[in-house]
Amino acid sequence: MKGSWNVGRIAGIDLKIHLTFVLLLVWVGVSTMLSGGTVGAVLGELLFILALFLSVVLHEFGHAIAAKRFGIATKDILLLPIGGVARLEQMPEDPKQELVVAAAGPIVNVLIGGLLFAGLLVFGGFSQPINISTLMDNFWLRLLTVNLTLVLFNLVPAFPMDGGRVLRAILASRMNYVKATRTAANIGRGFAVLMGIAGFFWNPWLILTAIFIWSGAGSEAQAVEVKEGVKGLTARDAMISQFYQVEANQPLDGVFQLAMETGQQNIPVLSNGHFLGIIRRQDLLDGLNRLGNRAPAYGAIGIEPKGIDPEMPLKDVLPKFAQSRVQPVIEDGKLIGLVTPESVQQRMWLNQRLRKNSSYSPQEKKDIA
Ligand SMILES: [Zn+2]
Repeated sequence: MKGSWNVGRIAGIDLKIHLTFVLLLVWVGVSTMLSGGTVGAVLGELLFILALFLSVVLHEFGHAIAAKRFGIATKDILLLPIGGVARLEQMPEDPKQELVVAAAGPIVNVLIGGLLFAGLLVFGGFSQPINISTLMDNFWLRLLTVNLTLVLFNLVPAFPMDGGRVLRAILASRMNYVKATRTAANIGRGFAVLMGIAGFFWNPWLILTAIFIWSGAGSEAQAVEVKEGVKGLTARDAMISQFYQVEANQPLDGVFQLAMETGQQNIPVLSNGHFLGIIRRQDLLDGLNRLGNRAPAYGAIGIEPKGIDPEMPLKDVLPKFAQSRVQPVIEDGKLIGLVTPESVQQRMWLNQRLRKNSSYSPQEKKDIA
């Protein structure tokens, strides 16, 4: 994530802190000072925030360690002002595994809470009656409260928060994975709305969390649908096989003319039948500016991708779009097609239609018509 700062590597997992987190520390420090706090009070507040986020980091390590047991690696743990995120390489699709991974985080806070409780019991932390002011004065008591709050908060079934993942895992053991995700995501969005409204009156931090839940629920549900939609399909199934291409020595103004007339955004360049690379729309504009109208097409090639095999599963093609939104398909050294996010989307629509139509008997289809 942009604007995040790598603070170290623990058990093979990078720990990153987002710069806005530093802003949070500054804000807490300054607001304590402005409300008349001494230097000691400011340090105490900052120390408390750090202890709170240490609890969050340990929570995230709980997820990471549980995921590791199922052979899933964690890319990094990112600390944001609204909490932590353990970015797993993938989500376990087995509902039982997802349940364990999701529950492992809050369980860590239960353990921390248990330790704090035992410590407070031994060292007389509960000797005076507990009210808001003793709660705020006693560092350890406050940390205990915060850890218990973390447990309760994370168990709210607002997908993609932990409780929502537990909910999806339970749903997925009764219905198919896509439907379970969609249901959990809708419930999550419902909670996001409630949280946003509550945050408006009570705590702006809740509004941020609500936005995070709203967008996270949508994008995860979509990712699951795409993954399901491309199941069993290969690059060949989703490639554009009718397209124009140009020779390496064709002048760029000719390529531009072709792009205008056909609307084709990605133009392959060949030399005596050999595929050299692709001129994307932006490459073409850059090339014209940089090299001029009469320069040969090969000078404007933006990407010279190795190309993918037509039998490559489509689910493995999708991550490649992060590097380039056009993937040439090469068979026996020849360019036979182009796969783009749009062509994949179209293939998925076709599949959905086919699936829908095949799930009805001929009589039912007639009834629907
Ligand atoms: Zn968690």
